[in-house]
Parts: sequence; structure tokens; C-alpha cells
Amino acid sequence: MAEFTMELNDEQKEVRDWLHGFAADVIRPAAAEWDEREETPWPVIQEAAKVGIYSLDFYAQQYFDPTGLGIPMAMEELFWGDAGIALSIVGTGLAAVGVLANGTEEQIGTWIPQMYGDANDVKVAAFCSSEPDAGSDVASMRTRAVYDEAKDEWVLNGTKTWATNGGIANVHVVVAVVDPELGSKGHASFIVPPGTPGLSQGQKFKKHGIRASHTAEVVLDNVRVPGSCLLGGKEKLDARLARAREKAKSGGERVKNAAMATFEASRPAVGAMAVGTARAAYEEALEYARTREQFGRPIIDNQGVAFQLADMRTSIDAARLLVWRASWMAVNGKQFTAAEGSMSKLFASETAKKVTAQAVQILGGNGYTREYPVERMHRDAAIYTIFEGTSEIQRLVIARTLAGVPIR
Ligand SMILES: Cc1cc2nc3c(=O)[nH]c(=O)nc-3n(C[C@H](O)[C@H](O)[C@H](O)COP(=O)(O)OP(=O)(O)OC[C@H]3O[C@@H](n4cnc5c(N)ncnc54)[C@H](O)[C@@H]3O)c2cc1C
Repeated sequence: MAEFTMELNDEQKEVRDWLHGFAADVIRPAAAEWDEREETPWPVIQEAAKVGIYSLDFYAQQYFDPTGLGIPMAMEELFWGDAGIALSIVGTGLAAVGVLANGTEEQIGTWIPQMYGDANDVKVAAFCSSEPDAGSDVASMRTRAVYDEAKDEWVLNGTKTWATNGGIANVHVVVAVVDPELGSKGHASFIVPPGTPGLSQGQKFKKHGIRASHTAEVVLDNVRVPGSCLLGGKEKLDARLARAREKAKSGGERVKNAAMATFEASRPAVGAMAVGTARAAYEEALEYARTREQFGRPIIDNQGVAFQLADMRTSIDAARLLVWRASWMAVNGKQFTAAEGSMSKLFASETAKKVTAQAVQILGGNGYTREYPVERMHRDAAIYTIFEGTSEIQRLVIARTLAGVPIR
């Protein structure tokens, strides 16, 4: 039995090369422009839709790759092209996953196509969980969803922040509190359909990096959505709340949180984005070090430079292996007994930050200017240690998992 292999199969290599071609020919050349414009790169999203990269089908195909490597491979290539543009392309996928994970078949069939639109009229979607006072501490969320039984409608009130595509999305997925006594177990997710009155965009953030990706506040002022917009449906929610109340009564705080398993499975995808940015910066630095001459020889002939490149490449490869391991575990239903998903996100995101800083250093003065892409990559990389759980939160999750104490 020699089933273990570290090699991509022919089909995976074909997809990887196709994505790399798109990243090199379409995304990378557009990167500097959209970074400066700080606007959603609609024409690039449209190109991605035309070739089939911006669609649920594409993500589903990668997601169901039985090796687990489909999604990390796709993320690495697209983010190698440019992080801001790639996030504009995959941001809708994050909202779609929220519907796929919790929605009924009917909800999936109704809403996901509206999240993407079509190649002639592309749309985006937003996933709105974070709030001004509820970032890492998701349980302190305040946005309320109250059921109006007479009309079979839910009424949403609150302010969401940091929403990727917030306010410009066709479909918003909003997480809200339905039972404040139950902490994060009293939350539920809702679809806010296109054009629903009461939903508006608040402040659009001017960011340090990934500036082509739109990030904004979303204000919910008496937003009424039909009962059918509660993801999973009312019956399922009522049963889940009843179980959570029972467990709370019987000291159920120690019961394993199902949401944590979902996070462990999705975090490697963010790690793969970080690997893409780190690899892009490393390749720029390697090429520069080979061609830039000082003191009569290429700067790579200095051990001080060459060793940095050796460390950069070693960390990137190690990060990718952690990402692949966690992705393989997720698809094969392995238990994350050491929070391997968090490990991969932690290590890959810290690697991206470090490697892009080293790349700036290797390019010297040029690395510090917008004439060269490593300056942008360095700014972009800083997001990976912040969103989808900060590095500190990843360490907390890993440490608590190792210690065998519950993760809130
Ligand atoms: C560009 C961008 C896009 C985003 N996209 C989305 C999106 O689409 N949807 C969405 O819902 N959210 C999104 N987010 C929000 C993101 O997930 C949060 O910013 C993140 O979870 C951190 O929350 P916070 O910013 O409130 O920081 P805080 O939670 O206030 O943390 C501040 C600092 O304190 C540290 N800290 C907090 N608690 C602890 C602890 N217990 N132990 C040790 N250290 C701790 C943190 O690690 C951090 O260093 C996005 C954010 C950004 C910047």
C-alpha cells in the first residue's frame, strides 16, 4: 500500500496551470491600478466570470476534490496574482459558503445564483458577522433578529462592520442574535435579498492593503425579511435553540462547539491565500537578487541575501504543507485534535508578513516604492494575521485544543 503522495494529479496540475495563467495574464497586470483606485475591479471579476472562475460551479468542483487540495491550490494561484483583486473574486464565495453550510436546498438554489449574477451582469455577495464591539469576541454581537409571527417576517436591527463587499452586494448574509441568553449559540444567519429597504452602506474603509477589495460598514435599520430568509428554516433553529438551552442548564458549556470544526476546515483556505502572496513576493525578490549588481556581482552572491531567500522559501514550503495537511484532514473527516486548521492559518499568515518584509529589504530602495510590486504585497500581507481570526486567536484556539479546555 503506497497511497501517500505529495504530487498533484494531472487534472489538478491542469487546473493550477489554467489559474496561474489567469493570475499572470489578467490579475497581476491590473493589480497596481486597482490598488491605487481603491475600487472593486468589476471588469476583472467579469473576465473571471467569462472564463468560469467566478462561479459557484468552479468552487464546488474544487471543494469536492477528494484530496482536499482543490481549494488551497486555487487560492494560492489567484492570490499570487494579487490579493486585493483575488479577494474581490473569492469574497462572494465566503458568503456562499455561509448559505451552503446552513441553508436548505431551496435557499441554496434561490440565493447563490443571485450572489454571482452572470458573466454579462456580475454581482457580488457579502458575509456580515463582525461588529464594532464584536470582532474576535463574536459572542458579544448585538445585531438583533426578532420574529414577527403575524407576518412571518424577521426584523433585523444593528450595525455590522468590516464586511467585504458590504453595501455593494446583491445579497447580504447577516449573522444576528435571536436569543441573547445563549451567547454565540443563540445566533442565526439571514439572507437579506437585493434591494431590501433599511439596509444601507455605512463608512467605506480606506485600507492599508488589499485596497481593490471593498470593505464597509453595513447598517440594518428595521430590515424586514421573509421567514424563508432564515438560513436552515425556523423548525431547525427552534430545535437547535432548545438543545442549546438544555445543554446550558446541564453545564453544557463544555460541549464541543460545532462551529469550531467548521472554522478549522475553512481556515486553511486563508492560509493558502497567504502562501500565494508570500510566494509572489519571494519570486520577485529572487529574480531581483539574481540580476541586481552591487560591488561588481549579483547581490544574491552575498550570503546575507541568499540565506534570507533560503529562509523565505523554506517557510513558504512549510506553510503550504501545513495548509495541505489541514485541507486533506477536512475533506477526509479527520478530527482536528491539535487545531491543525488554525495552525496552518497562523503559520502561513505570519510567514506572508515576514517574507514580504524580507522581499522589500532585498529590493532595497526599489522595494520601498510603488514601481515594484513587493511594496503592495507587503501591505496586502498584513491582512492575513487579522481577518478570519487574528494570530492571537489562532494561538488561543491551538492552546485550548492542546490543553483540552473548551473554546468559546
Ligand atoms: C479587510 C478586512 C476584511 C474583513 N472582512 C470581513 C467580512 O467579510 N465579514 C466579517 O464578518 N468580518 C470581516 N472582517 C473582520 C475581521 O474578521 C476582524 O477584524 C477580526 O476578527 C478581528 O476583530 P477586531 O478587528 O474587532 O479586533 P479585536 O477583536 O478588537 O482585536 C484587537 C487585538 O486584540 C487581540 N485580542 C483580542 N482578543 C484577544 C484574546 N482573547 N487574547 C489575545 N489577544 C486578543 C487581537 O488578536 C488583536 O490583535 C474583515 C476585516 C478586515 C480588516
